[in-house]
Amino acid sequence: MLDLRWLDSSFAFQKIIVAFQDSKAGPAIEVRAHAFAWPEIEEKILKSGCRVVRKERCGTDAEISAWVEKEKNGILAGILKRVYWETTAGCNLACRHCRRTDVSESVCPDDLSTKESKAMIDELAAFADIDLVLSGGEPLIRKDIFEIASYAVKKGIRVGMATNGTLVDRAMAARIKAAGIAYASVSLDGAKPETHEALRGKGNFELALAGFKNLKETGLRVQFNFTVTRQNAAEVPFVHELAVSCGASSLFLFLLVPVGCGVQIAESAMLGAAEVEQWLQWAHRKNQEGPLLIKTVCAPHYYRIEAQNDGASTAGSARLLRHTGESRYPEKSRDSGFHRNDGGEHEHSRKGCLAGIRMCFVAHQGDVYPCGYLPVSCGNVKHVPLKKIWQESPLFQKLRNPSLLGGRCGACSHKRICGGCRARAYSVHQDVLQEEPYCAYQPAG
Ligand code: SF4
Ligand code: SF4
Repeated sequence: MLDLRWLDSSFAFQKIIVAFQDSKAGPAIEVRAHAFAWPEIEEKILKSGCRVVRKERCGTDAEISAWVEKEKNGILAGILKRVYWETTAGCNLACRHCRRTDVSESVCPDDLSTKESKAMIDELAAFADIDLVLSGGEPLIRKDIFEIASYAVKKGIRVGMATNGTLVDRAMAARIKAAGIAYASVSLDGAKPETHEALRGKGNFELALAGFKNLKETGLRVQFNFTVTRQNAAEVPFVHELAVSCGASSLFLFLLVPVGCGVQIAESAMLGAAEVEQWLQWAHRKNQEGPLLIKTVCAPHYYRIEAQNDGASTAGSARLLRHTGESRYPEKSRDSGFHRNDGGEHEHSRKGCLAGIRMCFVAHQGDVYPCGYLPVSCGNVKHVPLKKIWQESPLFQKLRNPSLLGGRCGACSHKRICGGCRARAYSVHQDVLQEEPYCAYQPAG
């Protein structure tokens, strides 16, 4: 099934069709697409020599009209697919690069209560088909975390958990699995103890690895999250090897955002734009080679590099297919909602920064942000329904309109697939729409 609902680039569409011609699925294709797009889609499929064996019209008339209107104006539709929820501001660690400066050792009195949490989940389940990622702080220090997770799962929400891994013994791993959590990530910021522990504290390297192993043993899909800094960038290839040997479902490489504690270490820890470029090129090369899926997170310019490297090659088409679920590494690409972070099956139109476009962040006391690194609150779920915030917040509306971007991002032909990091723009320029400061690309003109 080729899902074209969120595809807005005829170039990308052409690449998919080329790949289908060469794939086992071609030349017969089942297509799901918005009705308004059918004439163009069918013409292209027919010209390619493939044929449509089943077509499925999606969207209500009102949804389609709203979509067309937004597309006409160049504004991306805001379809909420993932919510990161800081279930508590408390954590058992005190990492040097944490986006919070005020981490407490235990849960906070102003964390959303169980009742408030369930009310938010009810609301989310009623208006969006989402992944809910339980993060923190450290989510496992919340006593009601499994009650909350099971509640969301029962409501039909796909639930993931982001943990530092240090509290996950076998019993805890079993509880995570039993709650219905579908996938988990464990943070690992170095391939050896000294490097990881320089950021995350003594004794935590082995604990994180043990947590990962315990989670894996339950059958859960588990990925590593690695925040790339100047101090640990050289270890990325070794962490990659480690992730392969441990059977990680994927490796997520985060580019540091100078927010919270990150501000204090930014000067010494941030890679320069040229180094970021080299690192992203490496990630792209490794992704070609496989077998492990690498996702670069909060480095939206990866998708500019992908577009530049791939051109109209078949390899590029294959990767686009990966995003439609026809992966070269099927078991890796379909399994985790984390994978939909920047280029999931619904997100062809924008694969880079999805803050405010496909995702948002709910802070521990209920404030809603485009993401956890962009400290501009758009409302609080205790006072305003999340649906209303998502649909009406002026900041979210701005982030969905790439024509408002300034500086090099504004002039960039890749802005619709990349968009630059709005949080880094805000941190450096105090303007969410200004250019991404850590991209080396110079748009023509
Ligand atoms: S603005 Fe986008 S790219 Fe930047 S930190 Fe937030 S989600 Fe990541
Ligand atoms: S200039 Fe901006 S939009 Fe273009 S690739 Fe760089 S970060 Fe992305």
